[in-house]
Amino acid sequence: MRIKRLKLSGFKSFVEPAELRIETGLTGVVGPNGCGKSNLLEAIRWVMGENSAKSLRGGGMEDVIFAGTAQRPSRDFAEVVLHAEDGEGEELEVVRRIERGAGSAYRVNGRDVRAKDVALVFADAATGAHSPALVSQGKIAAVIAAKPAERRQMLEEAAGIAGLHVRRKDAEQK
Ligand code: ATP
Ligand code: MG
Repeated sequence: MRIKRLKLSGFKSFVEPAELRIETGLTGVVGPNGCGKSNLLEAIRWVMGENSAKSLRGGGMEDVIFAGTAQRPSRDFAEVVLHAEDGEGEELEVVRRIERGAGSAYRVNGRDVRAKDVALVFADAATGAHSPALVSQGKIAAVIAAKPAERRQMLEEAAGIAGLHVRRKDAEQK
């Protein structure tokens, strides 16, 4: 899977709609402290279904919505759109939107879907919110200190079999 474009609106410090094109090859994001580099990576994790507010450096899920500054009022929603190309070269558009008091809604290629459908899309592609391909600031030390079970999960993600666990959990609940 290759991420091609990212659109953010009201997500953390990205208050005005912003669109980023990610070309093939290596992309670097540079800027002064606090300009939003980590927020960008968090936007990618969030649209892929991240549901831990803590791992997004927030207290609750609504903390991803632009909170306002002395000059600017806060926003009522945050939205991230991710355009990607899957392993077969098919276009993929994933949208996640959160509104104050209304929780998150997801769309994949224009259709309303459940959070776990989004998790499956990325689990099968061995990417996703918890993929070891996304390394947050300070997480290298956490990888070194990981417990065996956590390390096994990383290996399973890398081997591309994490999707099977999501499906098994789903089947067990039925
Ligand atoms: P560093 O170089 O220090 O790692 P960075 O470029 O990674 O910095 P981020 O951590 O992405 O910076 O951005 C932090 C900024 O985002 C802070 O100024 C913080 O106030 C702002 N921010 C985070 N959440 C929100 C929110 N909900 N509303 C408004 N601003 C927010
Ligand atoms: Mg940072």
